Amino acid sequence: RDVLRRDPHQEFFHSDVRGVLRSIGPVLVEHPEYTDVVGRLCEPERVIVFRIPWVDDSGRVRVNRGFRVQFNSALGPYKGGTRFAPSVDLDVVKFLGFEQVFKNALTGQDIGGGKGGADVDPKALSAGELMRFCQSFATEMAGHAGAAVDVPAGDMGVGSREIGWIYGQYQRLIGYHEPGAFTGKPAVLGGSALRPEATGYGTVYFTRRMLDDQGRDLDGARVVVSGSGSVALHAMAKVIDSGGTVVGCSDSRGSVSEPDGVDVDLLREIKGQGGSVADYAEKRSGATASQGSPFTLECDVALPCATQNEIGPDEARALVDHGCWAVAEGANGPVTPEAREILREGGVGFGPGKAANAGGVAVSALEMQQAAGRERWSAEDVDAQLSTIMSDAYDRVREAADRYHGDPGDLENGANAAGFLRVAEAMTSLGVV
Ligand code: NDP
Repeated sequence: RDVLRRDPHQEFFHSDVRGVLRSIGPVLVEHPEYTDVVGRLCEPERVIVFRIPWVDDSGRVRVNRGFRVQFNSALGPYKGGTRFAPSVDLDVVKFLGFEQVFKNALTGQDIGGGKGGADVDPKALSAGELMRFCQSFATEMAGHAGAAVDVPAGDMGVGSREIGWIYGQYQRLIGYHEPGAFTGKPAVLGGSALRPEATGYGTVYFTRRMLDDQGRDLDGARVVVSGSGSVALHAMAKVIDSGGTVVGCSDSRGSVSEPDGVDVDLLREIKGQGGSVADYAEKRSGATASQGSPFTLECDVALPCATQNEIGPDEARALVDHGCWAVAEGANGPVTPEAREILREGGVGFGPGKAANAGGVAVSALEMQQAAGRERWSAEDVDAQLSTIMSDAYDRVREAADRYHGDPGDLENGANAAGFLRVAEAMTSLGVV
């Protein structure tokens, strides 16, 4: 009630809070000592909203709004991505920050939760404009980031190039090297091997464990992966590595069906040159472009890896009708609550994003460890750790689903319960702070 009263218009955030509260009821019955944690958990420790002034190529002064929500630091420094997209507002950032608290807890690592971003369309900016924008963003963030305080990373619209620029300005302002203050940096600045791949790979590792429990695997499976950005392209590569066929994909301009399998290298090349999935389809005789959702295509596994609310009731019904085995969220919030209910009733396995896409932040935490120890770990080493972290997260979620919700396959309730338990124990141990 307090959450609704304080910020009545934050629909994404409210919907997420409601979902979590529904899941933790049975946990509170067993652990009544955690009841007073709930109100504190739903209120961010700190919200920073700031002006980002910058000068465009024509010399005009432009202004955007920046955000950093430092949600919960009970388990460690605030940790979470930075999103540059026109749709970014306080509601979206609070929703993502709240999710991040549970996600980070599920990795088993010592990281708190936070999220940030700005309401800018980076694709509409030249490289010079975007660098100046990142520098202006970093000028404000410099007072709030730090290896032991708050460690931002990338997210939609913010890749290693942008993190490099943000870190460059930060380092200049603080006057010394502190590579543990930002993750997702270019390799030459101490970025971890496999960080760009980690979210997509991790989603597929999590999906493989879900399928294992169904007595199935990805070998020979038909998979639809939405999006064709960082998470999606790496998920596609790992699906193919695992013997599956990517039969459909999409971007913000449309989708593509290709029953014989998407050529991920070609798609990456075309997207890297600013092209669309429709441009890709033009180059492939077996591919068909459309304006519809990729999730109405026949598939065994669906991996939404683009953005929020991609799978609504219509797409969920199509997935059920096509006999889809499992849906795992590579993106944050891509499956609406109504759609999740339809999938559940239709017997489709569901891997919630706070567990299924935790691979990115897990490797970011490994990057923090490498920075602290002045070490560089090999891609093989990081991949082995990522695979173990995703597997352990799956076990933690499954066990909590079984114990508190009486169904080991109810991974959504299990993820909320398992994440809550770890954060609540830490918050309780710290006293009322
Ligand atoms: P990118 O910006 O690299 O890619 C996003 C992709 O989604 C692009 O292909 C974009 O299309 C597409 N897209 C954007 N809006 C829409 C839309 N309305 N309909 C269809 N497609 C759309 O972002 P990431 O891959 O980094 O992130 C994707 C998701 O994964 C986000 O929800 C993010 O929060 C989440 N995530 C990312 C992590 C990471 O490590 N990067 C970590 C954990 C979660 P176009 O190519 O046309 O722009």
